[in-house]
Amino acid sequence: YGDYSQKIDYVFKVVLIGDSAVGKTQLLARFSRNEFSFDSKATIGVEFQTKTLIIDNKTVKSQIWDTAGQERYRAVTSAYYRGAVGAMLVYDMTKRQSFDHMVRWLEELRGHADSSIIVMLIGNKSDLASLRAVPMEDAEEFAQRENLFFMETSALESTNVETCFLTILTEIYRIHA
Ligand code: GDP
Repeated sequence: YGDYSQKIDYVFKVVLIGDSAVGKTQLLARFSRNEFSFDSKATIGVEFQTKTLIIDNKTVKSQIWDTAGQERYRAVTSAYYRGAVGAMLVYDMTKRQSFDHMVRWLEELRGHADSSIIVMLIGNKSDLASLRAVPMEDAEEFAQRENLFFMETSALESTNVETCFLTILTEIYRIHA
């Protein structure tokens, strides 16, 4: 009946950062388990989920880290960033402040992570279009200036979630494989 053991060609660590409540945990839940919850998470502490995908006929295991609440205490440590080859900077497109804080998060990231890290800016909650507080042009301009990929997503409606993870992982693969 064949060999069910899976040979992993690459393991890529990607970290999620951004203010509390922008939807980092739900983006990860959507990507890794195709789940979504309106409840805020119960656990505190760094956690990660893995998902294995095929890119260019190679088995790539993505290890996606979530701050799991630590951002509330400004306690994201250098251990969190260690070994990361990708980062997703997430803001809530209905909360201007969460976008304005992207500068700080990027600074924090660049201070801790390897300079070759691939970074994607994500405006989450695109399903709440009528509450938009961040024009797409502002985000595009920031992304262009800082050399980031950019995408708007909805973890609730599943819009662009798979695409944004695939985009960053494919880019990481292109650089590291
Ligand atoms: P985190 O603190 O950044 O990890 O944020 P969470 O993933 O815990 O999400 C915070 C709140 O926003 C929760 O109530 C989620 O259900 C909600 N949320 C997350 N993503 C979306 C989304 O795409 N659309 C909407 N409408 N709500 C979302």
